Amino acid sequence: MPLPDVRGREKILEVHARKTPLEKDVDFAVIARGTPGFSGADIENLVNESVLYAARFDKDKVSMSDFEYAKDKVMMGAERKSMVISEEEKRNTAYHETGHALVARMLPGTDPIHKVTIIPRGRALGLTQQLPVDEKHTYPREFLLNSIMILLGGRAAEELTLKDFTTGAGNDIERATNLARKMVCEWGMSDQMGPLSYGKKEEQIFLGREFATHKDYSEDTAKKIDQEVSRIVMTGYDGAKKLLSDHLDLLNRIAAELLEKEVINGQELDELIGIAKPQSAVNTVLDLNA
Ligand code: ZN
Repeated sequence: MPLPDVRGREKILEVHARKTPLEKDVDFAVIARGTPGFSGADIENLVNESVLYAARFDKDKVSMSDFEYAKDKVMMGAERKSMVISEEEKRNTAYHETGHALVARMLPGTDPIHKVTIIPRGRALGLTQQLPVDEKHTYPREFLLNSIMILLGGRAAEELTLKDFTTGAGNDIERATNLARKMVCEWGMSDQMGPLSYGKKEEQIFLGREFATHKDYSEDTAKKIDQEVSRIVMTGYDGAKKLLSDHLDLLNRIAAELLEKEVINGQELDELIGIAKPQSAVNTVLDLNA
């Protein structure tokens, strides 16, 4: 069954929460926007978790903050506040997450930052969450290039401030590389390689799932593809590093704030950056490219 879209999720929320006493601040449209990729079962789980969380504080109504807590739990696993983390690790995580958030906030046309946190959850030590304004079905090339920059913003911040790397960026790097490879091989977005599809997919029909990719190109082409993927990823990395080194004071300031508060939401981030209107960030980047 396909995953529900934003309207579908709102409807499912309404159904599962119809017997739940709710505070006035609960807005299903906002929750639906913040849960892309949630299945019907995930949403049911989300409602149950929010009820349990409200009950923990003897509240007789469920509020938006209970839903927010439950959403993070369903999305990323339970908070692990008791997990022992060294001060150094916390500091590294703060810089890493700030790197993602600052790159995301400074680039035009990216999804708004919902929150940045260094409270460990599941296997992650920290997290930067963006909240799409609307459901996307196609992705323009620039959006994808920006996504690669945001993914690599964590590692770039580490390189700039810690002069060392942690393994924390492993998943980011994998995702950035996969995106770049899809741009070249599937979406024909590389000028070098042209609007061609490289690698035939064999679908496992009964599962409807990607099964294996068969090489239908020469060794020479394979080399060119690798070069192009590497060029896209490195361009993204250099772009993230340039953006962050141009705003090193902000990077330090936000990371320090994050270390202290452990969670910063989108609005607080904007205040720290000193952005009143999103347009100012666009201009910064356009100047940068000039
Ligand atoms: Zn990261």
